[in-house]
Amino acid sequence: MGSGKAYLKQRSSDQKNDPDTNIFTIKFSDLAQEFNNTIHVDPYYCSNCRAILNKYSKLNFIENSSEVRYVCEFCENVNKVKIDKKNIPQNDEIQYLIQSEIEENKIKNEKSVIFCIDVSGSMSTTTKISGKVGCNSENYLQEYEMLKEFIDPKDRPHYLKKLQQKQKNVSHISRKQCVITAIEQQIKMLQEKNPEKVVGLVTFNNEIVVYGDGSQQPIVLSGEQLHKEEEIKRIINQNSKQMMQNSIEKQGDTIIKRFQQLREDGQTALGPALVSALELAKVGKPGSMIIICTDGLANLGLGSLDGDSNRNFYEELGQQAAEKGIIISLVTIKGEGCKIDTLGQLVEKTNGSITRVAPEKIGQDFENIINDAVIGTQVELEVTLHKALQFRGEDNLQQQNIIKRYIGNITRTTVLSFEYQLKSIEELGKLNININQLKSIPFQIKVTYINLKGQKLIRVFTTLVQTTQNIDEAEKEAQVDVIHVRIAQKSAQLAKQGNYQEACIYNQNWDQYVQSNQHINSNHINQQKNHKYSKHNAKLSIALKNQEARCQLSQQFKETSNEKQNDNDKSINLNKQQSTPGGEDTLIFPSSKQNIKNPQSTSIKTTQEKENSIQKNNDNPEVNKETTRPTDSISSSQIWSFQNKKINENQMTKYDSNSFTKQESDFSIIKDKPNSNSESSNESDEDQDFTTLFFYGKATF
Ligand SMILES: [Zn+2]
Repeated sequence: MGSGKAYLKQRSSDQKNDPDTNIFTIKFSDLAQEFNNTIHVDPYYCSNCRAILNKYSKLNFIENSSEVRYVCEFCENVNKVKIDKKNIPQNDEIQYLIQSEIEENKIKNEKSVIFCIDVSGSMSTTTKISGKVGCNSENYLQEYEMLKEFIDPKDRPHYLKKLQQKQKNVSHISRKQCVITAIEQQIKMLQEKNPEKVVGLVTFNNEIVVYGDGSQQPIVLSGEQLHKEEEIKRIINQNSKQMMQNSIEKQGDTIIKRFQQLREDGQTALGPALVSALELAKVGKPGSMIIICTDGLANLGLGSLDGDSNRNFYEELGQQAAEKGIIISLVTIKGEGCKIDTLGQLVEKTNGSITRVAPEKIGQDFENIINDAVIGTQVELEVTLHKALQFRGEDNLQQQNIIKRYIGNITRTTVLSFEYQLKSIEELGKLNININQLKSIPFQIKVTYINLKGQKLIRVFTTLVQTTQNIDEAEKEAQVDVIHVRIAQKSAQLAKQGNYQEACIYNQNWDQYVQSNQHINSNHINQQKNHKYSKHNAKLSIALKNQEARCQLSQQFKETSNEKQNDNDKSINLNKQQSTPGGEDTLIFPSSKQNIKNPQSTSIKTTQEKENSIQKNNDNPEVNKETTRPTDSISSSQIWSFQNKKINENQMTKYDSNSFTKQESDFSIIKDKPNSNSESSNESDEDQDFTTLFFYGKATF
């Protein structure tokens, strides 16, 4: 509770948004603990408001009968129920077993973790790192083994030495290497701690390679197939059981080997990869997990985000996953615009997490994601307030004092927060309530869920809270951390609905309230907690303001572009000319989109000249293609950063990059290209802000 006391005070309509301590949070971590107070029958419900008979219900036993009469403490309805005395709750918290293990779950495999890894060209972008990342020291030998047949035998010792040198002074490391190292660590950890888990692998670039647990021949999907959801589902579904049958204990080393052989090039067919990964994950028990790891914009096949048309694709996929109790988490690597706002829908539907990390720090985040596993699926929440109270700031409630929500998956860190207040005088009058008689009021939380054993349960928590009509009294008993969670969560929720201005105002009002209220801050512990929170809130506040500014810019841009729609093409062409003063480089704009998709075609030769002896065989185009793989992306990234710099100077700084992609989809192609220089681009900042909002929305700070 936000305070030890519920504050009962009439509020006029202009005070509606004034802060007070009438807040409570619901933490779900308890559902993972062993729990003894389990009753093996259905609960007794109030026939009017569906509140569950609880420890505080005053029961009148009818003589010579098994019936009792009790007045519902929430709605004052008089109930008559047949009751077995041993099933009368004795504690605030009670659990009811509704259904023993669900048949479907019994035949399923263990829970699985599917790594869905981006191996598109941008993953070869290197990052400067300080200190060593735990890289596999044999990497260079493997690279050498793969390449040596293309290298003139007399040059081989020289090349090997060079690779060895490179490995020794790890000051640059590619994103792919970082990801691989991090996943290897996770696999080793799982082998030790959860050897029964099944780990699967799916990679994506121009094509999707579905490895499963690594025991079978991988399935490759490409070309037209990437646009056919049903076909992908059918193919993977037919094979998913065979591909996901071996535990990590048995398959771990094979999977690690597969990882190490991954190469990075091409585009980013994230959508079809996800469809495949979801089919694999369905083989496992509810609570299985997909971890997407990407640094770029999905731009090929289903769910391509080049335009604006595929947003629903991810939402629907999220829905399908949530129904099966599968969590999808997103790990994006700092550097490229990723449209986290769209992919975020997928993650939010399944209660996964979004993490945006520097490549070299990715390991810890994988660990956090894997450890924050599902503890309940198909979760439904119902909160009942006394009929004198109503929820504040909630839409579409059938009854003002009862909230019902389908939550889907929950993890240990899932927290929800709510606000309440006294109903208006008119409404209290209609209900015939005298608040002076309400010395205490009941709150009840019901969580219906399926636990990890596949049992369907209802956890009920009922409590009585003292009331006061004196705000000072309530504030003196304030629980500031509860209020902090609410500030963060509600601000982020408003923002995610697009109400940025409202979010900013809400955030400011409440933060000010909690920081400067003299009663709340008369307590030393509260002061310390507030001080700590103010730093968190500053970060949140900046993200909100940035988003608001972007929103306004986007509006302005839309207005301008509507007026000047016909002139648009001309101005783009003009910019193209301006930005290529020499006309000799590879700056590419909408008209020559084709070139963008194959940056190698223009860059191979220059790379070859600069690079080492690999070039020896470049007379043969086939061999050339192979040998340039590991290095061509370096040159393309150089070219791309050059291009982006020019585009930024000429275009992106004028308007927000997001509004630009919405208006002019050809531009967005740029963002999936290798680009070591885009840390400071607007698009990346927007991803950062969205990640911040997501993070605070989950109140996990
Ligand atoms: Zn009732």
